[in-house]
Amino acid sequence: MAEVIDGKNVAADVVAKVKALTADLAAKGKGQPGLAVVIVGEDPASQVYVASKSRTAKECGFHSVQHTLPAQTTQADLLKLIGTLNADPAIHGILVQLPLPAQIDAGTVIQAIAPEKDVDGFHFVNVGKLGTGELDTAFVPCTPAGSMLLIERVRGKDLSGLSAVVVGRSNIVGKPMANLLLAANCTVTIAHSRTRDLPALARTADILVAAVGRPEMVRGDWVKPGATVIDVGINRIPAPEKGEGKTRLVGDVAYAEAEKVAGAITPVPGGVGPMTIAMLMANTVVSAYLAAGLDRPSF
Ligand code: NAP
Repeated sequence: MAEVIDGKNVAADVVAKVKALTADLAAKGKGQPGLAVVIVGEDPASQVYVASKSRTAKECGFHSVQHTLPAQTTQADLLKLIGTLNADPAIHGILVQLPLPAQIDAGTVIQAIAPEKDVDGFHFVNVGKLGTGELDTAFVPCTPAGSMLLIERVRGKDLSGLSAVVVGRSNIVGKPMANLLLAANCTVTIAHSRTRDLPALARTADILVAAVGRPEMVRGDWVKPGATVIDVGINRIPAPEKGEGKTRLVGDVAYAEAEKVAGAITPVPGGVGPMTIAMLMANTVVSAYLAAGLDRPSF
């Protein structure tokens, strides 16, 4: 049976380190890291995510502010708020919760965030730094950054000689994940909906990352024996066995099958999920250190 990679534990370690760094910053007389979370509209899932981010920020000792704007907010008004936050020295990280309402272009808003406050790592400057291997100065998107920490727990930091397959090519997960694996010296293949014979390709992977959004698509016989399997997917499916109308969360990997073949595997929930918010806190404390002219902490 595969080793279960406990994302809750690793995330708790990251948050503990963020708290310690925050306390050190205050002890040096450099103030508090500040995180501003902006949400437009009343999407219930977004509300839950934002509340959880704000709660964790407070727990870390951050100056945490939340801007909740009505669904009919104009793009101009949102850009004005971003401008104010960019100029506010008490704010080191700005996060705009996606999706945004139809009248607002998410790309325009993300590119308006100052790159040094772009703790989501979506600004072209940070995307470019990651793409060119400038990892020492980039903000890396939180979910792939967290997935990398989970891989490091099993395989160490240098992945030389290993082959990695990333299924999914989104800008938020698949592409930055592939770049991180490349920077760690993996031989990387990115698969997507047009890839031919995905099961055979997946079987070549020492590290297999699934970021697709299709419940249990990756079967046990797609997994190379001993592989490290990182399941980014979060899918809610009906669970009639729990009662009428009930649901449960599953990943993109058929866990019960894959755990019999893999060397190590992340569960859903409790694997990659908890890492995302933890890495947002890590990026924010890093931003505060850089703004204070201190060395960049590493995670
Ligand atoms: P996305 O933007 O929808 O991208 C999905 C990718 O999967 C696309 O590149 C798509 O290929 C590919 N794909 C779709 N069907 C496929 C198939 N049959 N075979 C191979 N590839 C296929 O999704 P995302 O934002 O990257 O998210 C992926 C999953 O991760 C979702 O379940 C999401 O909920 C989850 N997620 C979790 C976290 C977390 O905190 N744990 C964070 C972000 C996302 P094409 O490009 O060809 O369409």
